[in-house]
Amino acid sequence: MLPESVMRRAREELLDWHGTGLSVMEMSHRSKAFASIAEKAEADLRELLSVPDHYHVLFLQGGASSQFAMVPLNLLGTRGSADYLCTGSWSKKAIAEAQRYCTVNVATTSEADHFTSIRDPGSWQLHADAAFVHYTPNETIHGVEFHRIPETGAVPLVGDFSSTLLSRPLDVSRHGLIYAGAQKNMGPAGLCVVIVRADLITAPRAGTPAMFTYKNHVEARSMYNTPPTYPWYVAGLVFEWLQEQGGLEAMAHRNRRRAEKLYAAIDADAFYHNPVRKESRSWMNVPFTLANSDLDERFIEQAAREGLHELKGHRSVGGMRASLYNGMPDAGVEALIDFMVDFSRRHG
Ligand SMILES: *Cc1c(COP(=O)(O)O)cnc(C)c1O
Repeated sequence: MLPESVMRRAREELLDWHGTGLSVMEMSHRSKAFASIAEKAEADLRELLSVPDHYHVLFLQGGASSQFAMVPLNLLGTRGSADYLCTGSWSKKAIAEAQRYCTVNVATTSEADHFTSIRDPGSWQLHADAAFVHYTPNETIHGVEFHRIPETGAVPLVGDFSSTLLSRPLDVSRHGLIYAGAQKNMGPAGLCVVIVRADLITAPRAGTPAMFTYKNHVEARSMYNTPPTYPWYVAGLVFEWLQEQGGLEAMAHRNRRRAEKLYAAIDADAFYHNPVRKESRSWMNVPFTLANSDLDERFIEQAAREGLHELKGHRSVGGMRASLYNGMPDAGVEALIDFMVDFSRRHG
């Protein structure tokens, strides 16, 4: 979801951005007007996340999935291996892609318990000579979230923050590289944000396509080719909205409170079940199943009639999934809980 006030503002400015007579969709990415939009968005994102000056912020295309390749292609350097923490479907995809370019050491995996937990860090097999450690702070499909940043010593930590960036404050300086597809918690599809420590930008592996080379995007300030201008603009509106909300401390407070409320409702009713270990439950994505899966379709249908959409769980895990991204108003979470109580009373 996007905040309604952001959508309204995009609508107001759709045909004529600030008296220019142009829509942002019609502007050259090299125009003064777009440059001002781009710079403001970057400055606001830097402020929200307190991004240190020695980090670059890139606004790229290709989604988070392209980063699965770009990260190893650019960060391996002369090393031949990287460590990956495997905590769900998105980690697995990142691992499969990295295996095309290097030896992947899976330092930990919770696949045996169907990705319902994160193993104790003491059991992880990390390697001091790994080029980087990759993790997925929030597994969007399984609803598993790291509530602590992994310790990796001198080895750069890389995080796929697609479904959790901007949900709370983040210590960027603990990471070498952060990436996030915009469409979950930041803006419309088509944009991927990368935040990378400057010293990690070196020559990529031989044969790497120009578009997959961070150095090119850094040197061109994300204008190596035409960037996704409209999603960049809407993401900028979301950043302004986040500042109006009180920034990421305020979002963290709100997101934690309402996730706890939804989990409490699930745990209080045997008709619903969330399989994730309590300490690893996601604030952003709450998967749950019904005691009788024959009722799944009816649940989704009736919920949609109440204005509660997109509740179907990912096809790989089934059941339901409630995504509580920043743009979701508190009233949406309340309405879901009310609906669940009522549905269970009628069918449980
Ligand atoms: C959605 C998602 C992706 C894939 O994003 P695309 O932009 O579609 O490539 C990757 N990682 C995580 C954690 C996601 O939630």
